[in-house]
Parts: sequence; C-alpha cells; structure tokens
Amino acid sequence: MQLPVYLDYAATSPVDPRVAEKMSRSLLVTGNFGNPASRSHAYGWQAEEAVEAARVQVANTINADPREIVWTSGATESDNLAIKGAAEYADKKHIITSMIEHKAVLDTCAYLETKGFEVTYLRGDNHGRVAAADVAAALREDTLLVSVMHVNNELGTINNVAEIGHMCKENNVIFHTDAAQSYGKLEIDVKAMGIDMLSVSAHKIYGPKGMGFLYVRREPPLRIAPLIHGGGHEMGMRSGTLATHQIVGLGEAAELIHEHMHEEQVRLSSLRHRFLSHIQQLPGVTINSHPEYNLPSIVNVGFADVDGETLLLALDDLAVSSGSACTSASVEPSYVLRALDVPEAVAHASLRFSFGRFSTEEEIDHAGRRTCEVVGRLRGP
Ligand SMILES: *Cc1c(COP(=O)(O)O)cnc(C)c1O
Repeated sequence: MQLPVYLDYAATSPVDPRVAEKMSRSLLVTGNFGNPASRSHAYGWQAEEAVEAARVQVANTINADPREIVWTSGATESDNLAIKGAAEYADKKHIITSMIEHKAVLDTCAYLETKGFEVTYLRGDNHGRVAAADVAAALREDTLLVSVMHVNNELGTINNVAEIGHMCKENNVIFHTDAAQSYGKLEIDVKAMGIDMLSVSAHKIYGPKGMGFLYVRREPPLRIAPLIHGGGHEMGMRSGTLATHQIVGLGEAAELIHEHMHEEQVRLSSLRHRFLSHIQQLPGVTINSHPEYNLPSIVNVGFADVDGETLLLALDDLAVSSGSACTSASVEPSYVLRALDVPEAVAHASLRFSFGRFSTEEEIDHAGRRTCEVVGRLRGP
C-alpha cells in the first residue's frame, strides 16, 4: 500500500536524519552511553558534557541562561510542571488561561480547580487570539499565574505573548506560555518578551518523541515544586537519570531548525498560498485559521455541505487531522472550534492541514487537487 501524503506536522514530525545520527552515538557501548550523573569516571563526564552542550544549544535559541533549562519528557510534562509547580508554593489561588489551550494545560487547570484554585478561561477573538487587554481585565488581587499559548496547535493562531508577558510583569503575575508549536518557527526571546516559563517539545521540531524542556526564569528566582522526586536532578525540579540520547537529539534539532528558520518559514508560506489557491476554487470553504496572525504551516479549513467523517475517510491518501474527538457515543467536533462558535456543521467538517520540512510543492498540489475533487464529489451534482 502506498502511504498517504503526510500533512500532519502539527501532530508530530519525523526525526531529521542528522538528529538520529547524533542520537545513535549516545546509545551503544562504543559510544557515549554513560550516566551523566556518574562523577567518578570518564563515561559519566563525557555524557555530562554532551548534556550540558545541548543545554547551551537550547538556551541560546531563546536568549536564556543554560541554568534556566529543565529537561522533561515533552511539552505535556513541561506544562504540568510549570502550572502545578507554581501552584504548589503559592498562596494566591487564581489562574488565567484560554479556552483553546492544549489539553496538557486545560486538564492541569481542571485538576487544580479540584484543589481549590479558581480558573478564568478567556475566549479570545473569533480565531482564538487572546488580547493582553482581555488578560488584564481578568486579573484579580489573587491572580497567581497566566498561561496562554504562543501558537494554537489546531488553528495556528499566534498570540502576542510579548504584550501579555509585559502586562503580567507590571502586575507581578507569573507568565507561562506553551510554545510547542512556535518554537523553531517564530522568534522567541524570553527576556525581551517577559516570559517566566516556556514549554517546548522535541518531536514538533524533528527531534525525538518523549523529550522536551521547560524554561524557568532565574532572575528573580521562580520557585516551582517538582512533579517527580528522587535524586534532585535538574536543580531539584525534575529527578531521574538524564536521557543523553534524547537530550542531544533535542539540542541538535533545536540548532538545526533555528539555523534556517526564516528561509523555511518563507518556503512554508509559499506552500500555504499554493494550497489555498487550490482550495479557494471551491465554494463553501471557511478558513478557520486567523487571516493575519497565523503560522504559515497550519491551515484549518471548514467545508460546508459535507459530512466530516465521510470526508476524512474519502481523503484516504492524505494524512490530515480533524481535531474531532471520538467519544463512546459519537464524534464530537473539536473543542477549539466549538469554543470559537464555529457553526456545528462546519466544525464537524473541518480539517487541519499542516506542512513541514519534507513537504514538497508536488505534495501540496496533489493535496489541493484531491481535496477539491473529493469535496466536489461528496456534495454531488
Ligand atoms: C504537541 C503539543 C503538546 C504536547 O507535547 P508532547 O511533547 O507530545 O507532550 C502540548 N502543547 C501543544 C501546543 C502541542 O502542540
């Protein structure tokens, strides 16, 4: 069977061959397999050196100090560590977030609600963009933390995190942002943007799954409680033997994606235009993504007068995402589109197309033509 064209880079990306090669050198007996915490021999020292080199690689990409980088298993853990970690030491009990955050943030906030915290969920505009003024209006005396994502994973909507960060700073509120979709794609400077904590995942940037980091501001110090105890690794914030191969993989992936970030975003923009030029020949097409503040590589499109499930099944040579969730009884449209009041029928028939490093013009043309053909056929004469 011929595999479908991969248009789901926002869900995950393949590991870049240069990253895989570097990772493989930290696994075998002939390579750098030591425990980075072993202090008494060269195996340990070499592994530690590799881990610390990766920490510098990553810190440099966001204008952070290497000591502000905490290795984690991915953005889900980073989001949990940031929010629960800050909550544990706080006497303030109010959190502000948005309705269209990733579940890693929403479920963590819901959990804290069961522990006596109050959470305000902002809606943002019709494309989910949250204004700093809306955050400011929701602030209370007892607001501990604001968590607003940099780029939304279903729509590609870009938030002005610098504006939100500065507003939080002025009001002495901690600002966390989930940057799993923006890291390596948009410029991030944690100092200039007033970001106190930032979550990143390796597998969205051609690194390995099960790896990520949390940036935690050091000046002034931000105290967060660990989720995982045992051994006091990562300055006490995250215990467990460091996974050298995963860490060097993330370091390499981070350096590679930043090396060509601007050219690549221009290339992806042109792929987006190419794709839209096909799709927009169809009547009854809604672009759910933000018309202005949107990551080039994510396009969320709603198709009127077709059944979403039928459409997804008929597009079997394209690997795309519907954002819908299957419950036992039915298929629920994406909670993101629902929060933005996208009409139920359109939300049901919306697809996310996302492009990346290995996407080609031929693939995009094929995807555009196939989508038009299938939607046309399903709508009937
Ligand atoms: C992918 C993603 C996550 C989860 O990252 P993992 O590393 O898979 O845990 C969290 N937030 C956003 C916005 C994402 O896109």
